[in-house]
Amino acid sequence: MEFTEHQPPQPVPAEMRAMRIHRLGPLDPGRPPLTLDHIATPEPGKAELLIRVHACGVCHTELDEIEGRTPPARLPMTPGHQVVGTVVREGPGCKHELLHRRVGVAWIHSACGSCAWCLEGRENLCPEFRACGRDAPGGYAEYMVIGEDFTYRIPDSIGDLEATPLLCAGAVGFRALRLCRLENGEALGLTGFGASGHLVLQMARHLYPDSGICVFARSPAERDFAGLLGATWAGDTTAKPPAPLDAIIDTTPAWLPVLAGLEALAPGGRLVINAIRKEDGDCAELTGLDYDRHLWREKSLSTVANVTRHDVSECLRLAAEIPLEPHVTPYTLEQANEALIALKSGSTRGAKVLRLLET
Ligand SMILES: [Zn+2]
Ligand SMILES: [Zn+2]
Repeated sequence: MEFTEHQPPQPVPAEMRAMRIHRLGPLDPGRPPLTLDHIATPEPGKAELLIRVHACGVCHTELDEIEGRTPPARLPMTPGHQVVGTVVREGPGCKHELLHRRVGVAWIHSACGSCAWCLEGRENLCPEFRACGRDAPGGYAEYMVIGEDFTYRIPDSIGDLEATPLLCAGAVGFRALRLCRLENGEALGLTGFGASGHLVLQMARHLYPDSGICVFARSPAERDFAGLLGATWAGDTTAKPPAPLDAIIDTTPAWLPVLAGLEALAPGGRLVINAIRKEDGDCAELTGLDYDRHLWREKSLSTVANVTRHDVSECLRLAAEIPLEPHVTPYTLEQANEALIALKSGSTRGAKVLRLLET
């Protein structure tokens, strides 16, 4: 993979623009959830970098923060955890020579590095796991600060906008795919086909070329899109696939797809839920859980929590190798509210990205 040094951008101003969360509550298009603020540009501390943000992806987790399912550690908070930018300043003690380099920032802001989870490579489960844009300010801003150990080089072949969804949807999707323990030739299902699904489909076709991939999506447009990307079958959430599936990844915020997914599994099948929180809207569906239909014959259910740095680097490496083609819809920083409302309504396909700087 090639990495080019970037020209130093303009001098760093004392003040910057940021779109911040000031209060929590249900997303109401009449009351935009984020406010444009002019705040002091942060200073990098020990072993930290200051990044000029080029682009920041818009993730469903931002809705979970705003609506209080995984609330920010404090308010106001700058969300955003799929960030691509150039390093413009290094704090004391930086060792990785990243000044003027293009780097990415993902959901993992930091982990303790010394607990049992961290030591065995599962830093995503660290009790001191902190998330970018929830526990520390993220990338819905012109500048952000992050520890240099929690950044990733972005391969030259991947553009700023296209790299952003890889840092969350792609990386978490990659982790979900690993947790499926799929063998080449085994049938995979994807329920929900948004930012993560369309990347996982492309990764799965590359890693498991002989596996059929079935996509369950409510919207006919998403089903057509899945067909274009090489899904072998696409149907509605509760449609019956042509044959039982060995593993299914659920990226929806709802409960019906969990039951439908468990029912569609083959004996020994694995359902992996890739969602930081499920919404309450249809949780009454769970009363329909039937042991014989949904669980019997060694079916298993697991979840994906956060990401490790390994997941992020591997996703970027794989994306350059395939090459992966994320479909993105750009917005300006000031249009972040519109992007979130569009995300909530599911009205556009692919990933939504705030573009802060043309490069
Ligand atoms: Zn995300
Ligand atoms: Zn730890």
